[in-house]
Amino acid sequence: MAEKEPTILQFATLNSSVQEGFWHSFSSLKLDKLGIDDSPISITGFNGPCSHPKVSNYLTLLSESLPLDEESSAASTSNRNKCPVPGILYNTNTLESFKNLDKQSLLEAEAKKIWDDIQSGKALEDPAVLSRFLVISFADLKNWIFRYWVAFPGLVLDPPASLVELKPASEYFSSKEAESVSAACNDWRNSDLTTAVPFFLVSVSSDSRASIRHIKDWEACQGDHQKLLFGFYDPCHLPKYPGWPLRNYLALIRSRWNLETVRFFCYRESRGFADLNRSLVGQALVTLSSGESAETVPNSVGWEFNKGKQVHRSISLANSMDPKRMAVSAVDLNLKLMTWRALPSLNLTILSSVKCLLLGAGTLGCEVARILMGWGIRNITFVDYGKVATSNPVRQSLYTYEDCGEFKAVAAVKRLKQIYPAMESSGVIMAIPMPGHPISSQEEDSVLADCRRLIDLIESHDAVLLLTDTRESRWLPSLLCANANKIAINADFGYDSYMVMRHGAGPTSLSDDLQNLDMNKTNKQRLGCYFCNDVVAPQDSMTDQTLGQQCTVTRPGLAPIAGALAVELLVGVLQHPLGINAKGDNSSSTNGGNNDDSPLGILPHQIRGSVSQFSKITLLGQASDSCTACSETVISAYRERGNRFILEAINHPTYHSPITKKDTRCFPSNVVRALPSLNLNVLSSIKCLLLGAGTLGCQVSRTLMDWGIRNITFVDYGKVAMSNPVRQSLYTFEDCGEFKAVAAVKSLKQIFPAMESSGVVMAIPMPGHPISRKDEDSVLADCKRLSELIESHDVVFLLTDTRESRWLPSLLCANANKIAINAALGFDSYMVMRHGAGPISLSDDTQNLDMNKTNKQRLGCYFCNDVVAPQDSMTDRTLDQQCTVTRPGLAPIAGALAVELLVKVLQHPLGINAKGENSSVSNGGNNDDSPLGILPHQIRGSVSQCSQITLLGQASESCTACSETVVSEYREKGNSFLLEAINKPTYLEDLTGLTELKNAANSFNLDWEEDDTDDEDVAVDM
Ligand SMILES: [Zn+2]
Ligand SMILES: [Zn+2]
Repeated sequence: MAEKEPTILQFATLNSSVQEGFWHSFSSLKLDKLGIDDSPISITGFNGPCSHPKVSNYLTLLSESLPLDEESSAASTSNRNKCPVPGILYNTNTLESFKNLDKQSLLEAEAKKIWDDIQSGKALEDPAVLSRFLVISFADLKNWIFRYWVAFPGLVLDPPASLVELKPASEYFSSKEAESVSAACNDWRNSDLTTAVPFFLVSVSSDSRASIRHIKDWEACQGDHQKLLFGFYDPCHLPKYPGWPLRNYLALIRSRWNLETVRFFCYRESRGFADLNRSLVGQALVTLSSGESAETVPNSVGWEFNKGKQVHRSISLANSMDPKRMAVSAVDLNLKLMTWRALPSLNLTILSSVKCLLLGAGTLGCEVARILMGWGIRNITFVDYGKVATSNPVRQSLYTYEDCGEFKAVAAVKRLKQIYPAMESSGVIMAIPMPGHPISSQEEDSVLADCRRLIDLIESHDAVLLLTDTRESRWLPSLLCANANKIAINADFGYDSYMVMRHGAGPTSLSDDLQNLDMNKTNKQRLGCYFCNDVVAPQDSMTDQTLGQQCTVTRPGLAPIAGALAVELLVGVLQHPLGINAKGDNSSSTNGGNNDDSPLGILPHQIRGSVSQFSKITLLGQASDSCTACSETVISAYRERGNRFILEAINHPTYHSPITKKDTRCFPSNVVRALPSLNLNVLSSIKCLLLGAGTLGCQVSRTLMDWGIRNITFVDYGKVAMSNPVRQSLYTFEDCGEFKAVAAVKSLKQIFPAMESSGVVMAIPMPGHPISRKDEDSVLADCKRLSELIESHDVVFLLTDTRESRWLPSLLCANANKIAINAALGFDSYMVMRHGAGPISLSDDTQNLDMNKTNKQRLGCYFCNDVVAPQDSMTDRTLDQQCTVTRPGLAPIAGALAVELLVKVLQHPLGINAKGENSSVSNGGNNDDSPLGILPHQIRGSVSQCSQITLLGQASESCTACSETVVSEYREKGNSFLLEAINKPTYLEDLTGLTELKNAANSFNLDWEEDDTDDEDVAVDM
C-alpha cells in the first residue's frame, strides 16, 4: 500500500437530465398559476448513488420536481433512487432576459447559501443542502421550446485539496470489514429514515464491525474507532475520480472540524446493493488558507457543460405533442397573456363556455365569428340559408373560391375547424321567417317549424348575434330574445356608417329571474332593441340620417369594424356583473367616467360611426313601450297567441307597420352606384407592398381585395405559428410552419383566383441592431431588395411588429416619395396614419414637392412623432403603454381604417400631397376634395373607451426617417449610411442634431408588438 505522490484532487462533474414531464408540468404551472410572475421558484432535483458500471447518475428533474399544491406537498415519500436535492428555478419571460441573466451572480448566490448552511450547522442536520443546484430557463410556450441551463455550485477550495490515494473500497477494507460495511450501507439505504440522506459517516471499529452514522454525530464517533470515513452517495461511475458532491463536502469538513487529512468513501451500488469494488476510498489533504473566515464565501464553479461547451441546452416538445393540443395551448396562451398583462380581471372561463348563435353567415357573420374565436369563444352556431356566391369570398372572410356553391352555414363551420381544430361549431340551413312576407296556407307548417327551430336555437344558446342582411329578418329573433331574456347583439351598416347595439333585458319577468327584471322595470332602465329606434325619437339626427338613408352597397372595411365592435359589446356584457341588465355607458370626452363596472372599459348601449368622417359616438336609448319587437304588449300577445300571432305578423304587412318601413337594403351591388366619382381603375392597377403578414397584414390585404385591389406583395420573415390562425385571417391550422409570406399568397389566390400576389421571405434591417462584418453583405442585400420592392410598388403598408423595423421603410418611402400607410396597435388602442410626401424634390415631380416645401405643409411620418409634441395627451398615454397582446377586435378596425386612408389618398387629386383634415363635430367641413369624405393625417382610437379622434402632425425637420438631412445623407452615402445607422444606435441622433432625441425616445417608447410575434427572440414575451 505504497502511498503515491499527492496530486490535485479533481472531481467528476455532475450532469442533469430534465425529463419532458418537468417541462409539461412547468408549462401548466406557468399558464395556470404563475402568469408573468418571474420570481424564482423552489424545485427539487433527484439524485442517488451511481448504479451502473458505465454511466454516471444524473441529477434528474421530473414532473414532481415542481412545487405541488399546498395540500399534496407532504405526500412526497423517500425513494432510494430519488434522493431529493433542493434547487431553484429562474424562468425568464423573454429569450433576451434569459440571455442577459448574470449567471455568475446567480451561481454565487447559491454558493453563498451552501456556505451559510455550512457555517450555521444546517448542513449537518440536512446534508442534502450541500448539493444545491439552480436552473435558469426560458419557456417558449408558443413553440414549446424550452431553453435551460443547470448549475451545480461547487465551492472552490483554496488552496486546492490534494489527493494522496484513491482505490476501490474493496482494496482498502479488509474482507471482513468490507462485508460489514456493505451490510451497514445496505441497512442505511433500506431504511426509510436514512435512504435519502446522501452524506454520512462510516465508522469501523477495531473488531472490524462497521456502522453508518449521521455526519452530525462526528464528535460522538471520536474515540475507539479504528477507521472513520466521510461517506457520500457518489453519482459518478469513473474508477479514477470521485464525484462532484465531494467538493462541498470537503469544504464542510475543513471548515467545520478543521481536519487536514480526510478519508472519504465514494459509495456506489450495483443492482441496488452496495458494491465495494466500484465504491472508492480516498485520502485527501486539505489545508486551511490563512485568510479564510466564515464571512468570506469561497469562489464557486459549476455551470454545466453541454457537449463540452459552456452553452445552454434546449428541448422541443413540439414533436411529442398532439398538434391539436398544441394549437389549443398556443391559443390559450395568447388569451392568458391578455389576462396577465392587461386585463387581469377578465374571466376567460365565461368566454370559453358561452354558446353563441350567429344569425347570418355573410360579411358580418364571418367577421364576428373570427373575432369571437380571438376572444376564446369556442361554441358557435351559424344560421344561414344562403350559398357561397362567387363574389362572396373577397368580402366574407370565412370562404374561399372553392366553397362557391356550398351552403354558408356548412362552409363556415368547416372553415372554423380549419382555423382552430378545437372549435365546437355547427351550421343550420334555415331561412328566418319575416313579417310582411305573406305565405300560402300550405307553407304555414314549414314556416312554423322554422319558427319552432329558431326558438329552440335561441333557448339553447347564451347569446344571439343578429347579423342578417335585411331589417325584417331581425324582427322575429329580436322578439324571441326579448321573450327568453337572452343577450342579443345587433350589428348593421349603411353605405359608410355602422351601428352596433345590444338589446336590453326582456320586458316581462321570467320566473327564475324575477329580481333582475323587476329592478329593470322599476328603474325604467331597460335598454331598447333594434326596433325601438323606429318609434323612439332619435337622439342624434346626424347618425340616424346616415343610417336611414337608402343604401345599396357598403364600403369595404365596415364589416370588420362593426363586427369587432359587436364582439366587444358582447364580451363587455358577458363580463359585466349585471350582464344583460347592465346600464348603457357613454364615452366621455374626458376619458374619465365610471368604467369600474367592467374590467374592459365602458359598456355602451349603441355605437355608431362613420368611416368617411372617421367619427364614432356612443348612444343610449331606452326601450319603447310601443316597440314592435320587445315591448310588453308584443311579448304578451306572442305568449298568449303563439303561432297565430306569428302568422298574422308574417301575412299582414300592415300588422306592424314600422317594421318594413326602412327595408331598403339590398346585397350585393357594386361600389360605382354609390360613388360615381370613385376611380376604380386607379384601384385595380395599384400595386401594394405589405410589410408584415401578421394580424394587421392579413386584415389589410382582405380589405384591399374588397376594394378591388389586385396586386399585393407581402414581405415577412416569420412562419405561421400555432396560435396565429385564430387571429390572422389568412391562415389555417394546416399552414402552421409555413412562411407567412408564402401562406398569405396561397390564401389570397384561394379567395380570389385572379389575385396577382407574391411573397418575399425577408427580415427588414433595423437600426441600432449591430451586425457582424460577415453579415454586412447579406444585410445590405436585404436593404437593396427592400429599396427595389418599394420602387416597384405604388403604396407601402407598414405593418410589422416592432417599431424599429419601420424605420428603413419609412426612410425609403420618403426618399422615393411613395405613399406609406402605417398602422400600429396597443393593447386596446390603435393608430393609423399616412406619411407625408418626401422631403426632396424628385426630378419628375418637382412641382408638387416644391409646393409642399414652400407651404410647409409636409405631413409627418411615424417617426416625426418622436420629436413633435403630442397633440393629445390622453391618446398618447394609451398608445404609449407597452403591450404584448392586443384586443382581438383591434386589428380588424385598424386594418380597415388603414385601407380607408389609402383609398382616399389614391382618389384625392393631390394624392400624397393632400393636406390632413380633421373630423369636425358638426359633420360639416369641406369634404368636397375627396369623394369619399375627409382625409385625415392620423386616426387614433381606443376600443375600451369607444373613442376615436383624428390628429394632424407636420413633418419634423429633425426626424430620423423622413427629414431632408437624413434623406440627403442616405442619397449621398448609401450603404455606408445604412451600416452606420444599423450598427450605431446614436448615429441618427447625431446626424439630425437631436441630442435630446434619446431622452424623448425613452419617455415615449412606443413599443409596438403584435400578438403574433413568432420570431423566436420575442416568442413569448410574457
Ligand atoms: Zn324594442
Ligand atoms: Zn418623419
